[in-house]
Amino acid sequence: MVPPNIGYSALLFIAGTVCLLVAAIILQTRRAAPGATSLMALLLALAWWDITYAIFWAGTPAHSDYFWLDLTYIGVVTVPAAFFIFSLQISNLTHWLKRPLAALIYLEPGIVLLLLFTDPYHGLFFAGKRTANSAVILDAGPVFWLNVVYSYSLILLTTILLVRTFARSSGLYRRQVGVILIGLGITWLNSIIFVAGLNPLPGADNTPFSFTITAVAFAYALLQYQLLDIVPVARDVLIEKMTEGVLVIDVQERIVDINPAARRMLNVPLNVLGRPINEVFSKWNRTDREALVSANTQFEIELGEGRKIHMDVQVTPIMDGRNRDIGRLIALHDITNLKNNQKELHLLATRDSLTEAINRGHFMELALKEVQRAKRYDRPLSLILMDLDFFKKINDTYGHAMGDQTLVAFTKICTDGARKTDVFSRLSGEEFVLLLPETSEKTAAELAERLRMAFAKTAIGSEAAQFNVTVSMGITELRTNDTLENMLHRADKALYKAKSEGRNKVYTWHPQLG
Ligand code: GH3
Ligand code: MG
Ligand code: MG
Repeated sequence: MVPPNIGYSALLFIAGTVCLLVAAIILQTRRAAPGATSLMALLLALAWWDITYAIFWAGTPAHSDYFWLDLTYIGVVTVPAAFFIFSLQISNLTHWLKRPLAALIYLEPGIVLLLLFTDPYHGLFFAGKRTANSAVILDAGPVFWLNVVYSYSLILLTTILLVRTFARSSGLYRRQVGVILIGLGITWLNSIIFVAGLNPLPGADNTPFSFTITAVAFAYALLQYQLLDIVPVARDVLIEKMTEGVLVIDVQERIVDINPAARRMLNVPLNVLGRPINEVFSKWNRTDREALVSANTQFEIELGEGRKIHMDVQVTPIMDGRNRDIGRLIALHDITNLKNNQKELHLLATRDSLTEAINRGHFMELALKEVQRAKRYDRPLSLILMDLDFFKKINDTYGHAMGDQTLVAFTKICTDGARKTDVFSRLSGEEFVLLLPETSEKTAAELAERLRMAFAKTAIGSEAAQFNVTVSMGITELRTNDTLENMLHRADKALYKAKSEGRNKVYTWHPQLG
């Protein structure tokens, strides 16, 4: 029986507690960083090792001499695997962990433990070489030695991987891997001391201490440099505060990340992480949903409460180190103001500023399309050309401002009397045109008559000086092989006829008018 050593036991307790504390800090602050999961596993395995070993050295009674020593093995066999996985994680090589390597890494500790605990039945682990007066196994059976070779091979492989990562990295990242390597160096130094017979604690194993120091150095690198998780750091300062919306989705189209700007723009609640976009944007139509996640596009979306937003969407595929599609980064740019300005400019360019009726240029564009459409589908199309009567006199008698008022009043009567699909335009001074799709010249003449009468009855001017103005109109209908120009020409002939017949009249073109 090994005599208790309270001082040594206390040191082990402290080491175990440090491991637990550091694991808790990582869990609290850096759990998403690459390497954090395996480092936490390493720290827990070491805590187990340290604390069970401490309990052993405290002389705690158990039903067998070896009970606590056997329990330490749960930590002992887990540590090398955690070391190795940690080095893979921080070297961005986790894809190495595939069968059969993964099976070996995860199963080996279990098999060794099983053979250890069943040793009395087969002796494969200790081969009867265990002595009750040492807490260090200096010689044992084949499984023990196999496990020693395996464990040190893993730690050697871990070292090689980290040296490789160190050589390939640069800047602060390199310094971080440097700290990790120094930590690992302590483990190697300890092994050399042990093998050279310079152990300051004869009969006791100092490996848990050296491993604890190594793991704490790893944790220091993770916490101090905060570089392994450079992405979350950048995300906090940049993505969170930027005015551009950023949305990250995975291959299953679930929201992995969304910044406040995107949340505001898309009007989504806080708890959307992990939820599929089909569900989060279920009120959107399918085309908009698909556009949001798949195409570089611009679109307008109605967000409720009359709020409309116009977005420019840029979608970038996200690939992992092996060029596999792992998701998409969606950048959203609010271009509502830009679009509103564009609309305003378009309005300025296509409307007459006094009456807000469509100007000649825009009318020609729209009318050409209507003519083509009517011809293609063989539909009726009529045109009414209008010219105010004796307008020069109105200006001369009542002033230019009253003339302007007349033009506005006439525009209102025409737009109120026409359908939405009709095209009303101020062609020049006091000359207007109304294009009527799906309308025969007979119906057009009826409408023209109503407009003429309504205008004639409208009193214009102030109370002091009220007056009435009349309008003359010429009408024509689209004919076979017709053009817009010809239509305007014929309507003009009819209008001329209305003028020459005394004005305040509506005439429909007929062949005798030439
Ligand atoms: P008619 O019955 O033969 O059409 O005679 P009219 O006087 O209406 O025809 P004319 O073409 O001789 O005169 C058109 C007038 O319209 C001349 C111009 O001063 C006036 N006018 C053109 N644009 C505007 C405008 O924006 N505001 C005002 N107040 N008058 C305008
Ligand atoms: Mg006139
Ligand atoms: Mg005129």
